[in-house]
Amino acid sequence: MTTAEIKEMATAYIMNTYGDRKLALVRGEGPYVWDADGVKYLDFLGGIAVNGLGHCHPNVVAAIREQAAKLIHVSNLYYIEPQAKLAKLLIDNCDLDQCFFCNSGAEANEAAIKLARKYIKDQGRTGAYEIITMENSFHGRTMATITATAQPKYHKGFEPMLPGFQYVPYDDLPAVEAAISEKTCAILVEPIQSEGGVNTPSEGYLAGLRELCDKHNLVLVFDEVQTAMARLGTLFGYQSYGVVPDILTMAKSLGGGVPIGGMLAKKHIADSFVPGTHAATFGGNPLVTAVAYATVRTIIDEKLGENAIKMGAYLVDQLMKLKDRYPIKEMRGKGLLCGLVMSIDANALAAKCIENGLIAICTNNYVLRFLPPLNITAAHVDEAVSIIEKSLAETV
Ligand SMILES: *Cc1c(COP(=O)(O)O)cnc(C)c1O
Repeated sequence: MTTAEIKEMATAYIMNTYGDRKLALVRGEGPYVWDADGVKYLDFLGGIAVNGLGHCHPNVVAAIREQAAKLIHVSNLYYIEPQAKLAKLLIDNCDLDQCFFCNSGAEANEAAIKLARKYIKDQGRTGAYEIITMENSFHGRTMATITATAQPKYHKGFEPMLPGFQYVPYDDLPAVEAAISEKTCAILVEPIQSEGGVNTPSEGYLAGLRELCDKHNLVLVFDEVQTAMARLGTLFGYQSYGVVPDILTMAKSLGGGVPIGGMLAKKHIADSFVPGTHAATFGGNPLVTAVAYATVRTIIDEKLGENAIKMGAYLVDQLMKLKDRYPIKEMRGKGLLCGLVMSIDANALAAKCIENGLIAICTNNYVLRFLPPLNITAAHVDEAVSIIEKSLAETV
């Protein structure tokens, strides 16, 4: 089918939640994708941070083939070997103790909200259920996670929101401290806000949240749906900041492209999830966990975190060379979660980049955001930068 034919069929039969999607991508290899008309693009969006290993990585393809031919699904009424192996691999590489698997980032955050509330109730603090979240956050699209997402545009039309969430500005410790009451049970924060505009924490902010949680007996939850899996350079984002959360959620690049989410927690907190309290039919099924295991192994064995730091720094250096000639404010982010912050609206620039063969998206109107595969090379960065420069010249 051609792009036009796919678009016509999709427009007729699929709900219009994504607007005009412009491209129909049909094939991928490494950091490149091709559309239905055969046009090639360098993919610096990486399926919104999902394709950490690029497209169709041989280890991912092999794991899918092998596991699909062996066992795809059995339910969580039975022990699942690849699920246990994936859990051990993750736990061996972090400071948390146990896992729960689900299918998406929103579902991982739902699990975290439930676990935090349950743990605090189990402590006898039955009136404590409020969770403090940050303005410009993004935690998902279910009712609880849009409520947790402190951005009015995600609430509009879906009111009433759920009770039990309190919003404070991001990166503002005094505001958090002022919001804490006897009703508070947890603080939920993204170490770096990605959807919200690639907002990074000031020195001491995350450590300050840790201190407040320790002082007031609150659960510290890091939403690492986007920052985990070496995107910031360390396997988990918290390791880049030296601040250990009590609960951590992940999804996006955990499965190398197959849908999987997960929650990690300290043992004393995880113990509040007893049989009957939480479940997911598909969560951590043999297929997705075998693929996620191959993905995480590859990230660790090939030291892709180190590459993310190197390539991220190189991308920043190259783009900053354009700063004097174009309305560029700064580069923000860490590793390969980064954004070119413009002093003018960046939507036209993002569209022009696609026209010129580079997929990147505009976030928060002023930020051209990059979430490329973790295994890109300097040549890929050079190619991206030359397309960005050409696109800048053509739009501003
Ligand atoms: C994408 C994202 C989510 C939601 O994940 P889904 O898989 O779309 O439900 C939650 N939190 C953060 C930080 C994200 O980037």
